[in-house]
Amino acid sequence: MSRNTALFERACQTIPGGVNSPVRAFRSVGGSPRFITRAQGPYMWDADGTRYIDYVGSWGPAILGHAHPEVIRTVQEAAVNGLSFGAPTEGEIEIAEAIAARIPSIEKVRLVSSGTEATMTAIRLARGYTGRSKIIKFEGCYHGHADSLLVKAGSGMLTFGNPTSAGVPQEFIQHTIVLDYNKLDDVKAAFKQFGDEIACIIVEPIAGNMNLIKPAPGFLEGLRELCTQHGALLIFDEVMTGFRVGPQGVQGLAGVTPDITTLAKVIGGGMPVGAFGGRADIMEHIAPLGPVYQAGTLSGNPVAVAAGLVTLKLLSEPGFYENLAAQAKKLATGLSERAAAAGVAFSADHVGGMFGIYFNEKVPTSFAEVSTSDTELFKRFFHAMLIKGVYFAPSAFEAGFVSAAHDDQVIQATLDIAEQVFAKL
Ligand code: PMP
Repeated sequence: MSRNTALFERACQTIPGGVNSPVRAFRSVGGSPRFITRAQGPYMWDADGTRYIDYVGSWGPAILGHAHPEVIRTVQEAAVNGLSFGAPTEGEIEIAEAIAARIPSIEKVRLVSSGTEATMTAIRLARGYTGRSKIIKFEGCYHGHADSLLVKAGSGMLTFGNPTSAGVPQEFIQHTIVLDYNKLDDVKAAFKQFGDEIACIIVEPIAGNMNLIKPAPGFLEGLRELCTQHGALLIFDEVMTGFRVGPQGVQGLAGVTPDITTLAKVIGGGMPVGAFGGRADIMEHIAPLGPVYQAGTLSGNPVAVAAGLVTLKLLSEPGFYENLAAQAKKLATGLSERAAAAGVAFSADHVGGMFGIYFNEKVPTSFAEVSTSDTELFKRFFHAMLIKGVYFAPSAFEAGFVSAAHDDQVIQATLDIAEQVFAKL
């Protein structure tokens, strides 16, 4: 038996499903998950010593490649001074300043320890600020696992075909209005009916939890306009896209300004960090200044902040995002060409360091379209690539990520393997 399989069997004895986050379990694609022992640059090694080219990147954070020497050194230096104080540090000011300097819509920012905490609190803040209860989210968007957001959610919820969680009382979600992504008319209709009851819209401004789905032209602008018109707040959940698609997230690319932005993943450089920030007058409703409560024992953890700060610094190097986007483009177009040559119905898309691969003839533009992906074919592709040393996300409904360490040679190696795999699909 392989060591991966032995570890998985052992894990299942004491950990539900053998994993600490559901999609890791390979349930939708079958087989044993790989237990990772170490990672470096674009590569990960599993418990059997097999090396993989990694396109998951810890689901987004590993934008510099794994174990970047400067990040590791900074973390080591920070750790020597103590792991957690529960009192403020200068590093927290520096990272707040770094985030606010890069993202113009963020005047003030509060650090938390995960994306879930960031979105959960952003919703509470929007409700506290507006004094309204209803929220709008979109089917296939995932905003972490707070109760009111676990309705028709993406990522693992979508992967396992169970988009609304058990254990969430109806009363907790009665104020959540779920609409179709990219259908502005439905949002208009919702505002017409409930206008003065809607606290906020929360949206992934580029969706990455139902695979990669881009906003239709005018969609984000329309959301902005409706929120402004009706006194609701616009929350961009940039947990995945923040510092991933470009230096100012999607808001920088689209030129649309949200009231509140949520961040995580990249800003922690691989350590547990999340954040929510926005207009100062809104953020001042948070405790201790205002009546909206939020707190965290490990919030602003000094080691995590050090990892995040050095990561943000390295991302600011000239040409960083141009190079990253170029590699994602080479991967997406290269895969499409090889699939086409083999006669496989396949498409791919990319933005910044994020990409989508679809077993659909054309790049999907909606939840309905992406739902028709050939998941059986995806499964075969996924396993054939994995066996040959390429690790894609184990679900047809997740976006993929390249890092700065995915150089031409790594992309070419991936494409050579894909050529063989498509030919036999
Ligand atoms: N929002 C988005 C857009 C996400 O992609 C995720 C996680 N994939 C979350 C929120 C939740 O973040 P976390 O897993 O850190 O709680």
